[in-house]
Amino acid sequence: MDVKSIVSALSAKVATECFSVTLPSSGISLDFMPISVGQQKSFSKLLMNNSQNSAVVYNSMLALIVKTCLSKDRLDFKKATELDRMKIVITFCAKNYSFNDVKIPCPKCKKDMTVKLDLAAISKLIDEFGEHSCDFVYTTEKNRYSFVLGIPSIHVMAQLEQWMNDHKESGEKPSDGAEKEDSPKMQHLERLFSSEDTMKAFIKKFEVCDIIDPSKPIIANMEGLPLKDIIELCNILPSEIFNTSTGLIQLIISKFLKPLLTLGHDITCEHCQNVIEKGFSLQIFFI
Ligand SMILES: [Zn+2]
Repeated sequence: MDVKSIVSALSAKVATECFSVTLPSSGISLDFMPISVGQQKSFSKLLMNNSQNSAVVYNSMLALIVKTCLSKDRLDFKKATELDRMKIVITFCAKNYSFNDVKIPCPKCKKDMTVKLDLAAISKLIDEFGEHSCDFVYTTEKNRYSFVLGIPSIHVMAQLEQWMNDHKESGEKPSDGAEKEDSPKMQHLERLFSSEDTMKAFIKKFEVCDIIDPSKPIIANMEGLPLKDIIELCNILPSEIFNTSTGLIQLIISKFLKPLLTLGHDITCEHCQNVIEKGFSLQIFFI
């Protein structure tokens, strides 16, 4: 057999090892072919990446998902949410030998501790998190504003990453040297979810109607719209809806981001038995 025939026979054989992921947002099941040794290396590099160009990393991750997906007809980044992407990535991790044991320094004894990732537990938490949408109503003297909030689609999230990259310089904090404990990943997360503009990606739909004559509401449905249009539509609204302590931005932070970013499990250091609560969290999958 020549190499070409072996490769072809091998591909057919390996394809029987495919696995499926059920998306939490829709219940749609996608089939994936196993990640090859070559892909595994680039996948690990992507996930552990500390580079500043998050948009490139995000898109490379999406490219790997598309490449290994065997049911591309059911894979729609405009409908699938960021939570779906995380579940796919977590399943990839579970199939990836280099994620069986991760070593991180213990903050207490400083020795390297072995972190056993309970990926099945994390995957279950994501499923329980589910669609996670909620409503928000704000009434002014003249109008009633109703919002439907939810997890952004992968399509919008990719644009968020790009937006972040384009606005990198403005988010940079002055480095005073002393308190630079945050990892680049944490700094990235902070920037990603501290901007009023990027928060608008969580708005799925809003409706404005006149209180006296509610018969002709204006409906803005964000589904499938690019991030810049979502931002533009929201920017017309009165700022009080967003910026008060009971406003929309607060709600997004408390209802969506906090629970999402704190999903995780405790890890214990094998040297000093120090327990790091939620030491392994979903943050790692927020590229
Ligand atoms: Zn320790």
